[in-house]
Amino acid sequence: MKIINPELEKIAVKPEQYPSNNLPEIALAGRSNVGKSSLINSLVNRKNLARTSSKPGKTRTVNFYNIDGKFRLVDLPGYGYAAVSKSEKDKWAETIETYLSVRENLREVILLVDIRHEPTENDVMMYNWIIEMGFSGYVIATKLDKIGKSRLQQHIKTVATKLGIDDRKKIIYYSSETKENRDYIYKFIEEII
Ligand code: GDP
Repeated sequence: MKIINPELEKIAVKPEQYPSNNLPEIALAGRSNVGKSSLINSLVNRKNLARTSSKPGKTRTVNFYNIDGKFRLVDLPGYGYAAVSKSEKDKWAETIETYLSVRENLREVILLVDIRHEPTENDVMMYNWIIEMGFSGYVIATKLDKIGKSRLQQHIKTVATKLGIDDRKKIIYYSSETKENRDYIYKFIEEII
């Protein structure tokens, strides 16, 4: 896959604000700071198309990235940031739930988890939700460069066990730093769209 012209097409909270034409969409879910923006930037070869921040909890909107007019990557609000109020958290959950339930051109929702850590209870909830809504349940385990190769299988096992995944092929590991496995993700996206 060669990406030539990626753009941030829309920033939305409500369905009326979503882009109106029905390009296939792949949504990315995950807790804040898991590496969603970095994944998007590294896939589209831009440093700053998606905002990356060392301050988690900043993204409260659904961000639609139009990729060469062929499909969209959709960045869902990052959840699980401790230092916000309950009502704020509820608002995020509602924004995510609304998008997932009304968006007809949504092909897959991919959960991102940090490969170094056991998935959180929020990750488990999000993952169960994704499965219940009928999506395949692919996971991208980010920050691969931060663990030693010899420990990879052990970390994958932790992620699989916590999320209840039998088929390990559902877990794709990736590094936005080294871009290891990027071609695999491109192929995977092509199959989805
Ligand atoms: P988001 O909140 O999910 O969008 O997360 P960001 O993409 O902003 O990433 C959060 C932090 O993790 C930033 O400091 C990134 O530089 C860092 N990060 C993201 N992906 C990777 C990765 O694959 N490897 C390493 N070493 N750092 C990463």
